Amino acid sequence: MNTKQAKYTGKTFAKEFPDNDACLEWLKNKHYPNGVECPICKTVKKHYKVAKRPCYKCECGHEYYPTAGTIFHKSTTPLTVWFEAMFWMATTRSGHSAKELQRRTGVTYKTAWRMFKQIRTLLDENAGMFTNEVEIDETYIGGKRRGDNQGRPAEGSHKVPVIGIAQRNGKVSVKAVANVKRSTVMPLIAKNVTRRTMIYTDEYSVYDKVEDAGFGHIKCNHAAGEYVVGSAHTNTIEGFWSLVKRGIGGVYHAVSPKYLQSYLNEYQFRYNHRLEERPMFLTVLNQIQ
Ligand SMILES: [Zn+2]
Repeated sequence: MNTKQAKYTGKTFAKEFPDNDACLEWLKNKHYPNGVECPICKTVKKHYKVAKRPCYKCECGHEYYPTAGTIFHKSTTPLTVWFEAMFWMATTRSGHSAKELQRRTGVTYKTAWRMFKQIRTLLDENAGMFTNEVEIDETYIGGKRRGDNQGRPAEGSHKVPVIGIAQRNGKVSVKAVANVKRSTVMPLIAKNVTRRTMIYTDEYSVYDKVEDAGFGHIKCNHAAGEYVVGSAHTNTIEGFWSLVKRGIGGVYHAVSPKYLQSYLNEYQFRYNHRLEERPMFLTVLNQIQ
């Protein structure tokens, strides 16, 4: 994927998180890097692990549950399985299915599906403002047809329109939308792209007012199958689309419009953290509140 990111292998994972207590200890240290504050003793006090319960106890009797308020709260699935699911989700580019998680960990399909859904809630992240050179493109997840020229999906299709904004050599922001009319696309651009940024799009008419709205605008004609000359292309966002489609088409099989955004968030999160030194798994783990 890239050479900068430190390696975090299955071996490293197994060594750092061999059992539930190790996962719980990680959570405790995340919440209290300087030791657990006891609300009764009103100071940082050593809390001892309670045997057979996901709990630490102060000598005064105060009990602290590190999973309280997290996505693991009230789950009967072992923390090791949760952590493995996160590790696994982090070490892919094109995604894993709940079916695969079921096979890998032995949990039921329903549990696997719910776990992935919960983990995706951690990956909903605002990409911030886009600037410099920005590509904007629309696609339909679940098929290839663009729809009519009013921006409506092709009739009878279950395709969900998605707008993508990608900064070259930077981040992406992708949104599942009701349609790709200009009235949908332009506010998205205004909200996410800094004025006077150079925007590259295809020749679709919804982008006709980009320049009027205060941006630079270069239209790229790739329908003609011509060679990409210089910078007039939307290769960045198209590359991202193929990543998403490979995952959703090949692994997830079917995605309902309702959950599409959470899947998109997952892809966006991995993509946007791809160039960091910290291993992806630790970045995902760190999202736990
Ligand atoms: Zn205490």
